[in-house]
Amino acid sequence: MLNNPLVKKLLSKIVEKEHEEILKKRFKETYPDEETPDGIDNLIRALELPPEEIQFIANDIKKTVEETIIPIINSLINGTDTDEEIAKETGIKLNVVRKILYKLYDLKIANYKRSKDPETQWFTYSWKFEKEELIKQVRDECEKDLNTLNQELDKEENNMFFVCPYGHIRCTFDEASDEEFLCECGEELEFQDNSEIIEHIKSAIKETESDLNSFTETVEQ
Ligand SMILES: [Zn+2]
Repeated sequence: MLNNPLVKKLLSKIVEKEHEEILKKRFKETYPDEETPDGIDNLIRALELPPEEIQFIANDIKKTVEETIIPIINSLINGTDTDEEIAKETGIKLNVVRKILYKLYDLKIANYKRSKDPETQWFTYSWKFEKEELIKQVRDECEKDLNTLNQELDKEENNMFFVCPYGHIRCTFDEASDEEFLCECGEELEFQDNSEIIEHIKSAIKETESDLNSFTETVEQ
């Protein structure tokens, strides 16, 4: 189940948040007078990050999900329930295991019980994976994505689009006629054949649906 792309996408949020915070800081330093955008994609665009850096971030997210987060969850699934044992079992550093466990807790995907050792008076935390919650969140996210994609498809199929040849704007027929078919740069807007965009959205819908189907199959096994 954990290897399903939809699960990986959900778990990516944990690592994405970290990169988002770093980029936000950088944006504030670079443009102190501008409002800091939200969301990693908007920040990447606003900071005009070079392709190598975007690739680096994407690789880091993928690597952390596959080599750190999934092994920790697998450890929980196998019944290992303390941070120290998980660290021993996975070979991941204890402070990293703790950090990830609390992030999973924030997402409600993991939960813990605290108990006091009657002899030492120390607290021990016994962790548990919340499988049903993960399943629910994966399904919710997927529905949301499918809704957005279907809305986009609807808009593309029911409108004519016009673009500036220099890529400044893209707008519908009504918007273009309001601007008398001129871009701010003075260039005349051109009709755009959007059939490729439509195909792209359709295949994204198909892919999401098939990921959801295979997810449902593995969950019901
Ligand atoms: Zn233009």
